[in-house]
Amino acid sequence: MKNITLIPALSDNYIVYFETNDGLSVIVDPGDASPVENFLKKKGEKLDVILNTHHHYDHTDGNLYLKDKYGAELWGPVYEKNRIRGMDKMLEGNVSYKLGGEALDVIHTPGHTSGHICFYFPQSSVLFAGDTLFSLGCGRVFEGSMEEMHSSLQKLNLLPDDTAVYCGHEYTLSNVEFATFLHPDDHDLREELNSIQKKRDKGSPTIPSSLAYEKRFNPFLKAKTPGEFSRAREAKDNF
Ligand code: ZN
Ligand code: FE
Repeated sequence: MKNITLIPALSDNYIVYFETNDGLSVIVDPGDASPVENFLKKKGEKLDVILNTHHHYDHTDGNLYLKDKYGAELWGPVYEKNRIRGMDKMLEGNVSYKLGGEALDVIHTPGHTSGHICFYFPQSSVLFAGDTLFSLGCGRVFEGSMEEMHSSLQKLNLLPDDTAVYCGHEYTLSNVEFATFLHPDDHDLREELNSIQKKRDKGSPTIPSSLAYEKRFNPFLKAKTPGEFSRAREAKDNF
């Protein structure tokens, strides 16, 4: 894939635009249509496919407007077919699809919502993690159990280190503050806190991250057992 671009939306969401090598224009999780519309003005007014990770409004509210305006197809999780309107293609976990010429591996990651899916593009080493994995954090467990969310994160933990991680929100600063609270003696993490603070002061994004980075620093990905995960998640909920 090429021309991967973050489109900031709402208060702290990231919509992502990219093109497949054979020329399809794709948008991931359009929680708002207007920033996408503005962006596409510079890109030849073309949109072929919309991908949705889960049904929350801040990932889907732009779907119908963008479908209608550009004639795009909407691809989303089969598990949420009754909760996302206008889906054209229902995606299942553990299945490898083709998006243009590119392989798209769908990973079912219940926990934040019961039907949440992540998109892994093995040829490009890119993961769209939605609200399952954030940089240095993870989504709140709204619909699944702690066990499910832990096992969903462990599925992502199996992906290669060089995977670029695009997530649904810019929550990295608050996440690194929590991570340093959990691991006060990790000096490398403390340096990350400083560098993330600097980026955010300049208004720069902290996304994409890499899976190697998350494996090293993300307290939720590092939690070995569901119990350890659940204690960290509950502590973050009350942080
Ligand atoms: Zn969400
Ligand atoms: Fe969200």
